Amino acid sequence: MAPSRTDEPLPSFTQANNEPYHGPPRNIKNIDAIEFSASLQPKNYNILGTHPDSRILFLDVNILDSSGRDPYRGDVLIERERITRVGTVLNVEELKRDPKVRVFHGRGRTLMSGLGDAHTHFTWNGGDLNRLGELGVEEHTLLTARSAQCYLDSGYTMCFGAASAKDRLDIVIRDAINAGDIPGPRYLANGKEIARRDGDLVPGITAYADGPDEMREVIRHHVDIGVDQIKLSMSGEEITEIRSAQDCYFSDEETAACVDEAHGLGKRLCAHARARDSVKMCVRHGVDVIYHASYIDEEGMDMLEKQKDKHVVAPGINWLIATLHDAAAFGYPNEKAQQVGYQKEYDASIRGLREMHRRGITVLPGGDYGFAWTPHGTYARDLSHFVNLLGFTPMEAIIAATAGVAKLFMRENELGKIKEGFFADSILVDGDPLEDIGCLQDHDRLNVIVINGRVHKAGREEYVAPPIAGQDGGVHPIVPNFPEVKREMQKNY
Ligand SMILES: [Zn+2]
Repeated sequence: MAPSRTDEPLPSFTQANNEPYHGPPRNIKNIDAIEFSASLQPKNYNILGTHPDSRILFLDVNILDSSGRDPYRGDVLIERERITRVGTVLNVEELKRDPKVRVFHGRGRTLMSGLGDAHTHFTWNGGDLNRLGELGVEEHTLLTARSAQCYLDSGYTMCFGAASAKDRLDIVIRDAINAGDIPGPRYLANGKEIARRDGDLVPGITAYADGPDEMREVIRHHVDIGVDQIKLSMSGEEITEIRSAQDCYFSDEETAACVDEAHGLGKRLCAHARARDSVKMCVRHGVDVIYHASYIDEEGMDMLEKQKDKHVVAPGINWLIATLHDAAAFGYPNEKAQQVGYQKEYDASIRGLREMHRRGITVLPGGDYGFAWTPHGTYARDLSHFVNLLGFTPMEAIIAATAGVAKLFMRENELGKIKEGFFADSILVDGDPLEDIGCLQDHDRLNVIVINGRVHKAGREEYVAPPIAGQDGGVHPIVPNFPEVKREMQKNY
């Protein structure tokens, strides 16, 4: 194989269309077409704790249902864990009078599915990752629980674990969420990322394995302790300065063995794969979820296109952007980021991802929040990046983050849409995300958050029928609603 680190010009993917697009969402067909083998279906987790008599009625909401249909005004009824009526609720007058029904007056606000993140690290600390290895397991468990809650506070109801810093942290937190003990999104847990000894990125949080046999053994261990998927760390990362993002550390033989072992045990795999050759190995051997894919070339793109019903790509694009532009305050200036190669990688990555979107390869948002300059709570930046940089319409970005992540969960028939029979994981947004995708980043505009038919968040004004003080033209001027003032860095948290 030719060396992948190169100063050759990057593939231009000249066919990528950069014209603005206003038609129907283009990514529904490819998301629907994805078919992971039934033998890879994750365990059917459900969240406990929703009262069997619970009923929630959303009145006069703008329903953004993630089916691709334009939003429309209507009412939505939730009974117990699931959505039971959408659009027209037949006995609505009766329900409104029933004191046991929790009524939310939407006043035209947007009701949509909770969001999903395809590359989640609950165990990252928002600081120096190298220190995570030294952090006591008790403290680390608390930190992990806090990130889980932060995702839900941010409107996220589905997260796909992309590596845990310690063996069982992801697993324990997933189980605690499902038991109804702590708040958090639906979660598919991962173990430590598996890397070769000459290819690790963060020593203290890596499961080491060299060669097919050792890799199989580590995978068996992870499956034994209860992970839902396996993480391979195949390529480098420029910030290490010793392992280039253009270099792939895995061999074909190793990758094939990992896929064989994990799939044989009913688990899918995801991979840190920035390098050209790492992307090709993922496609050649069947690593289901490809992270980053920055240096994909023409040949890799063709291979991926042919297998696009078997893979999703989750670029975790915010890491590149924030490392280039938001890291100076943490001692990592733009010049440094450029010097080690992040601008080059960003340029390559944007070109590749736009081309994937054009070719109907499924690209999902989410990724690598929980580093110092990609703080927890800012997850919805990804949707803005998809719109502003990758050529997605706001509707396409929302479909990817909802129905797309539900597909990644292999639960597309009950998660990720505002649809009768689906689980009631929904958010009421003060704003129109199709007009302003950035409004999803503002926690103050996520007025109501419901997961599994249970209200996780709702402000005081949601509990009384209008008109109320502050919204009644000053008739009852008691305590107006002061908007919260936040500093720039806290704005989204
Ligand atoms: Zn990651």
